[in-house]
Amino acid sequence: NQKAIATPTRTKEILEQYGFSFKKSLGQNFLIDANILENIVRYAGVDERSGAIEIGPGIGALTEQLARNAGRVVAFEIDQRLVPILEETLSSYNNVSVINKDILEADVHEVIKTNFEAGQSLKIVANLPYYITTPILMKLLMERLPVDNITVMIQKEVADRMAASPNTKSYGSLSIAVQYYTEAKVVMNVPKTVFMPQPNVDSAVLQLILRDVPPVQVTDEDFFFSTVQATFGQRRKTLMNNLSRHFKGKLEKDQIRETLTNIAIEPSRRGESLTMEEFAILANAFYEKQK
Ligand code: SAM
Repeated sequence: NQKAIATPTRTKEILEQYGFSFKKSLGQNFLIDANILENIVRYAGVDERSGAIEIGPGIGALTEQLARNAGRVVAFEIDQRLVPILEETLSSYNNVSVINKDILEADVHEVIKTNFEAGQSLKIVANLPYYITTPILMKLLMERLPVDNITVMIQKEVADRMAASPNTKSYGSLSIAVQYYTEAKVVMNVPKTVFMPQPNVDSAVLQLILRDVPPVQVTDEDFFFSTVQATFGQRRKTLMNNLSRHFKGKLEKDQIRETLTNIAIEPSRRGESLTMEEFAILANAFYEKQK
């Protein structure tokens, strides 16, 4: 039983053996603390019947823990240099496949179909590259993949925004976008010191439990999201202000005031005070008004 990959000594050994140099542009910060990884796998609820999908296995620190606990693991890694390394570091597990692809370009539905059993409980688990955290998560959510939950290590500030409640500093259009698809929760804060090399920012583990149906009914999803974004456009400004700018040329100020009055939302409020339900009511009302 070999020592875990996620230790400073073993990681250094592997890096030296292959002459691997980190690519900052790919967000390569490898985890060197096996305890943290075990916690992540536990939060994800990975067991022998479940399938795990990992994004960015690096040299296999998390992949190894997933392989020990899951029925099957599929990992997407963009950096071709890591493929032969993973082949060796994970050679004692026969339930892992590495796909050398950019996750943003990958057909994840197809990969799921070919690698997992129909109806198998699937979890996405990753220590994400921080430079594209939001695009990756939004892709995974908007494609409505058949997965139970997504448990990811990301930049703490972004995790806080994704899980934020109304009337907090972190609350914004990203909170609504993520919480429309999931129940979001920050389950663990993680110090910089458990990475090699150490990143400049603090990290957190975000858990997203996918919803079967959205928490609110919206007439048009694109319209809903663009309206939400507009109300946060200039954070210090009122709904009246931001919506006037957004619907310029389409709706007069009077029409905007009237629409808000009809749904009993004060025009002087700010976007940051609106709940998901209020945003849905607001977007649906403006959708009818401007169509
Ligand atoms: N899982 C490893 C760990 O925890 O030690 C590595 C995590 S590191 C933060 C992010 C990994 O994602 C790197 O291995 C990097 O090469 C990979 N990566 C970066 N961009 C990617 C993309 N678009 N698609 C797939 N993998 C990517």
